[in-house]
Amino acid sequence: MQKGRSQITISRLWVLPGGDFTVDYSILVEGGASREYTVPCPAFLIEHPAALVLFDTGLSPRAIDDPASYYGEEIALAMKLRFSREQQIDARLAELGYRPTNVSHVIMSHLHIDHAGGMCLFPHATFHAFADELTEARAVRHAPHAVYKLEDLAPVENSAWKLYGSDVDIFGDGSLRFFRLSGHSAGEGSLLVRLASRNLMLTADTVHVREALEREKPTLFDSDPVAAVRSVQRLKQLIAENGADSWIAHDAEDWQRYCTFPNPLT
Ligand SMILES: [Zn+2]
Repeated sequence: MQKGRSQITISRLWVLPGGDFTVDYSILVEGGASREYTVPCPAFLIEHPAALVLFDTGLSPRAIDDPASYYGEEIALAMKLRFSREQQIDARLAELGYRPTNVSHVIMSHLHIDHAGGMCLFPHATFHAFADELTEARAVRHAPHAVYKLEDLAPVENSAWKLYGSDVDIFGDGSLRFFRLSGHSAGEGSLLVRLASRNLMLTADTVHVREALEREKPTLFDSDPVAAVRSVQRLKQLIAENGADSWIAHDAEDWQRYCTFPNPLT
């Protein structure tokens, strides 16, 4: 029998360990108990049969060794950012035998500074995002605030962008389904990856920690907390409907459970 498009799976998925930041846990989930919590900022490399795909890009290479010089002293100190040369995406790709130019598609969960910083390494790639996220990120010039940085966007403003208004099946083959789950930001999205062995939902920042998914709570810095809770509820439903496991990118325990770099999940 001919292999149908609906049976396309992702062969391998790697997490690329990036920098991290440390904040009070209580800001990551409404009602969470106060304690110091170190949050990983990974990117994910996805081997589709027809393309090498990146999901998110982590912190900016311009912040390496001295985050204050790029993000400003206030943010760098408040978030206790740490980012070293070996954690830069191109260094992680090199460990796996790839160059940035091997990556042809970059899917952006959203454009906050801890996800969009490495976009500058992939100007040749096609970027995928929800349209209102890009609009919001560009608007930072009118209302400066910490979560977006125009300097992250500038190097890829002239790159190819595929912008979406609603959920999308990225390659039309069911292998990568990108769900619009706004609330944390204007156009936040989570990515459902179909691996041979299982479905895996890469939540990105629709939730920051597992407690938020379990208790259906927003963070204290979501742009629209009401929409954020609706999105958390929908995320939960999508995970259940698809029999998926979920990897919450910023959850420290998920990191312990899933991070197998340099080995892939298959
Ligand atoms: Zn975010």
